[in-house]
Amino acid sequence: MTTPVYQNFINGHFLKNQSGETFAVKNPATDEVIYHVEVADAFVQNAAIESAKQGFATWSAMTPIERSRILLKAVELLRARNDELAKIEVLDTGKPWQEAECVDVQTGADVIEYFAGLAPAQVGQQQMVGEDFYYTRKEPLGICAGIGAWNYPLQIACWKSGPALAAGNALIFKPSEETPLGAIKLAEIFIEAGVPAGVFNVVQGAAEVGQWLTQSDDIEKVSFTGEVDTGKKVVASAAGSLKDVTMELGGKSPLLVFDDADISQAVSAAMLGNFYTQGEICTNCTRIYVHKNVYQQFIDELKTRTEQNIIAGDPMNPEVNLGALISKNHHDLVMGYIDKGISEGATLLTGGKALKPDSAPNGYFVAPTVFTDCTDDMTIVKEEIFGPVMSVLVFDDEDDAIRRANDTHLGLAAGVFTKDIKRAHRVIHQLQAGICWINSYGNSPAEMPVGGYKQSGIGRENGIETLDHYTQTKSIYVGMTDIESPF
Ligand code: NAD
Repeated sequence: MTTPVYQNFINGHFLKNQSGETFAVKNPATDEVIYHVEVADAFVQNAAIESAKQGFATWSAMTPIERSRILLKAVELLRARNDELAKIEVLDTGKPWQEAECVDVQTGADVIEYFAGLAPAQVGQQQMVGEDFYYTRKEPLGICAGIGAWNYPLQIACWKSGPALAAGNALIFKPSEETPLGAIKLAEIFIEAGVPAGVFNVVQGAAEVGQWLTQSDDIEKVSFTGEVDTGKKVVASAAGSLKDVTMELGGKSPLLVFDDADISQAVSAAMLGNFYTQGEICTNCTRIYVHKNVYQQFIDELKTRTEQNIIAGDPMNPEVNLGALISKNHHDLVMGYIDKGISEGATLLTGGKALKPDSAPNGYFVAPTVFTDCTDDMTIVKEEIFGPVMSVLVFDDEDDAIRRANDTHLGLAAGVFTKDIKRAHRVIHQLQAGICWINSYGNSPAEMPVGGYKQSGIGRENGIETLDHYTQTKSIYVGMTDIESPF
């Protein structure tokens, strides 16, 4: 059976490359190639820049309210096609249908809707300076680039295009080479909604295509989601043309569970923050610090619920709540971390093995894994694993727990479980992380800014402030009096 071949999406339509180079995309749950994609060669790259220039000229000349109406139409189409798009995400990523059906498309649509609403509300300032005055305009940057990770492909494309387009920019988006289809579907939806050709272009490929985006003199900004080490390369490369950057990178986030916490709720948060999307979520609370008075109770309930409530298998089965990891390579990397956890002396509470569910025997599944008796110096406690692997640690002093939680170069997220309202805020204010939760974990509504402290990122996505990251301020001084000149 022949599989489809998708081309790059440039200037409102598919564009064939000249090199003929393609890459294959596999379904992680079956290990089967499901389609091929053409790589964006030099011909496609040049066309993308020309297309974005034209798209930008048309789009930036429209009023914000006109742009807003068009983007809201795209939101309507995204929601109407929820199931079709969610299925693409399941086949590309291996994540369970029960998640994609209610999260991936909807949280993407929410963000475009949010920024469509904000676009007409963006205002400049005006101030008198003597009899003269100045005013400011919020102007778009021009052509922006978005580079995506593979865990939430469509959502990431929406989270980058929402603010970029609302502010009047054109975007060239490169999805991860593991999950390229969602962004193409979004491009088609934008065109159908009335976004002018050239405003949203999709280029396909791996690191080389990403590097081209970060180097191009025609691109004003790059918004990147991916690993810390790749982010460093992107920032270094973008410095060559002094591009603006937004970096959404990895984490190794702590969750602190105090002895007055609702333990069942804390276990729910720990499981969500380690096993949802089979652990492939950047904000995951992979270091769980539990107060010694409730440690045994916490791990007993955690073990029981992990062993009883997780169903791995064909991700399209709505009963399944644990999908396949993105690739064989990533699967092996995660299994390597599990081996290290065992060899460095952590206690394997549950899991710790690859799974071969009957309904998906060739998929890249890893059992939800919990290590206890962990210490701060273990590799599994220090490095981002990006799989269903949780490390549980014990503490008995608040200050010490905060110090240990902060003892990392990463700072994406953090959480606290306690019923003591003063302690909740006191602790969370001292945690070095950009996204924090109290008696909750993982929710990320469009209204709330998200991004990392330390090496977990630069800038923010979502929330009002993100529009500022996609605009530049022009100051205009207006002379009302005669110029005094010594010449
Ligand atoms: P990755 O860094 O391997 O790849 C991300 C993207 O960068 C891909 O599109 C890839 O093709 C591209 N790329 C690779 N090398 C490049 C280069 N030299 N120049 C430009 N682009 C290049 O990351 P991944 O494995 O796809 O994603 C997993 C990582 O993403 C995890 O570390 C996770 O924490 C992080 N993540 C962060 C957030 C966030 O919002 N903070 C969200 C999702 C994922």
